Amino acid sequence: MSVPSIVILGGTFDPVHFGHLRAAEEIRETLDMDEFRFLPCGQPPHRDAPHASASQRLEMLRLALADWPDFTVDDREVLRQGPSYMVDTLSDFRTEYPDAALVLVIGQDAANSLDHWHRWRALPGLAHLVIMSRHGDTARYPKAVEDVLLAGKADRPRSLADSPAGRVLNVAIDSLPVSASAIRALISSGRSARFLVPDPVLRYIQQQGLYG
Ligand code: ATP
Repeated sequence: MSVPSIVILGGTFDPVHFGHLRAAEEIRETLDMDEFRFLPCGQPPHRDAPHASASQRLEMLRLALADWPDFTVDDREVLRQGPSYMVDTLSDFRTEYPDAALVLVIGQDAANSLDHWHRWRALPGLAHLVIMSRHGDTARYPKAVEDVLLAGKADRPRSLADSPAGRVLNVAIDSLPVSASAIRALISSGRSARFLVPDPVLRYIQQQGLYG
């Protein structure tokens, strides 16, 4: 019997936008796994506190994905108290799915500073890593990170479904030039964010008076 394979895309999603959604679609197609989960962080340890609350960011993701059941939202980090360390989150997934192939998707920037993550050396033991690079991104790894990433280097997306964790795959994506910070800046200066986020998300932002 085959074991489940689960892709996890973490982020702040403050707010979720078409850049995230399109990147997720490309990764979903490339990896072809059973599940794809968006994982909004609760309290991000590596950056300023989000502008929208955890429940608002969760709701925006649910609205964005409501018509697409092959994408789901995982609320475990927003429900947990304290800072959201990925190593704890993946340990939690591992307890819930002992044999599953777990794939954590991270951007090239995050990969370049992986050694700043809490207990980063434990991550490949818990999940495969997919490093998503956008046009113009450069891999610049500290030596210790490079050694760990090279040790797991995989060439074929298919190889990730064969084992629970430990492989590292680079995937280049065609990204849209959209960012959550640019969207927040538009809204706070009274400009339109139409066509950058799904309509139900835009309506929610307006209803809640977010980013104004
Ligand atoms: P901010 O501008 O506030 O930093 P963001 O949209 O860049 O926000 P997150 O919400 O944390 O950042 O992004 C979650 C994940 O999505 C990260 O891996 C990030 O690299 C990726 N991502 C963000 N924007 C895009 C985009 N336009 N295209 C592809 N991937 C993106």
